[in-house]
Formats: sequence, C-alpha cells, structure tokens
Amino acid sequence: MRIPLAALALALLALPATGQERLRALILTGETDPSHDWRTTTPLLREALEKTGRFEVQVVEKVPGLTPRDLAGYDAVVLHYNGPRWGAETESAVEEFIRSGKGMVALHGVSYGVFFGMEFREKRWRRSTTGDPGWPAYAEMMGATWEPEKIGHGKRHVFKVRWIERDHPIARGLEETFLADDELYHRMDLRPNARVLATAFSDPATGGTGRDEPVIWAVPFGRGRVVHITLGHDTKSMSQPGFIAAFTRAAEWVAAR
Ligand SMILES: [Zn+2]
Repeated sequence: MRIPLAALALALLALPATGQERLRALILTGETDPSHDWRTTTPLLREALEKTGRFEVQVVEKVPGLTPRDLAGYDAVVLHYNGPRWGAETESAVEEFIRSGKGMVALHGVSYGVFFGMEFREKRWRRSTTGDPGWPAYAEMMGATWEPEKIGHGKRHVFKVRWIERDHPIARGLEETFLADDELYHRMDLRPNARVLATAFSDPATGGTGRDEPVIWAVPFGRGRVVHITLGHDTKSMSQPGFIAAFTRAAEWVAAR
C-alpha cells in the first residue's frame, strides 16, 4: 500500500522509542533580515512541529539575554533569526547547549549576516569594515560559509529537491524527491564536517549555477547535532509538504535523546 505524501509528512522517524514524553523545542526568532518576515513564518514552524504530536514548542522573540538556565530542559532549538549579535553569554549558552548533546535546526536566511562577521552596507552583505570576525563557532555549527560576493540564488521557482542520503534517519521512507517553492541558495562553501543529505539542480534557465546545490545537510557539533535546511523563504515555501516533512524530521532527529 502506498502511503499518501501528506501522511508521510507527519510520519515519525523510525527512532527507538524512549517513552511517550514529548520533545521540547525552542524557536529562536524575533529578527530577520529585510528579505524575510519572522512574524508570519514563525507560527507555521510552530504548527508544523506541534502537528507531529511529538513536540512541545516555545518561541523566544528576544534572544539576547538568554542564559544556560533558559535553555535547560529543551532538546532542540530552531534557528529562525538574522539580526544583531546576541552577546557573549547567550551565544556561548547556545553553543554549549548543542555541544552538550542537544540539537539545532537552522533554516533559510541564517547563513549570512553579523554572526559571520558581515555587515549590510550599500544594499548588500559585505565583509565587516571593523574586522569583526563574528561568532567564532557559528560557521562550524552551520557547517558552511558564504563569501559575501557569492551570496545569492536564481529566480524563486518550483524545483525538485533530491534526497541523496536515503538511508539517513531524516530521509528514510520518504520519496526520493520532493517539490520546493522557494529560493535555491547557490555557491555556498560547505565545510568538511557537513554531510549533505539533499541537493537540488540549480537550473541556469532560472538564473542558477548549472550545478547540484546542497539544500539539506547535517553537522556534528560536540555531542550534538545541527541540520541546516536552506529552504523556507516565506509562508508559501514553508507550507510545502516536502518542506514540512524535512523540517519536522530534522527537528526530531537533532532532538533525539
Ligand atoms: Zn529568502
């Protein structure tokens, strides 16, 4: 029997049962760059996680000032933020949270900005003029960097995303491809610690590179896990069943105890 895609989107990972206790996720948001809108998109992320029945979700709209105590008790954070630095205490709290064995899912719109030592000047991201190196551990957690002059994507369009690691717990049992209605980020530089799980062909016909670009990858960080998904430009992007499946499964995998 074929399982309908909608059912698969909400299907649980085949992880060993650890009891009925729900996983606890904290969405870190409250700022996005001018191309994105955290206010309209955050409720969709919350709803997607809650609909699995596996998560209890909280949202933080003021991240600076969070301490290790505020993160205690959560299994994973969802990074949906691109704004000013958080300050040493909060950045180190998030870093240590993941390093200690917890998880993070990082979405579209977080792979450039001040955490990488960039500044927004004359309508685009550029290297900081003050020599600010950014948050030193951030690139390692993301498993990628993006040279300011390479930041971009072709025209927003519908494209096929292909799971290339079909045995990975996040992809297991899913169709080989799913459709995204999104921006396809290109020319990112992945670090050796990133394991690419899904790619998409960046079609020159829509302004792409003519290459398969990484779309979803997993990064070990200390004893924890990070999954970076470059999808999720807006509410339409986040409403695609393929996005919802990838996001919720990634969250479950990084949060697994
Ligand atoms: Zn975007």
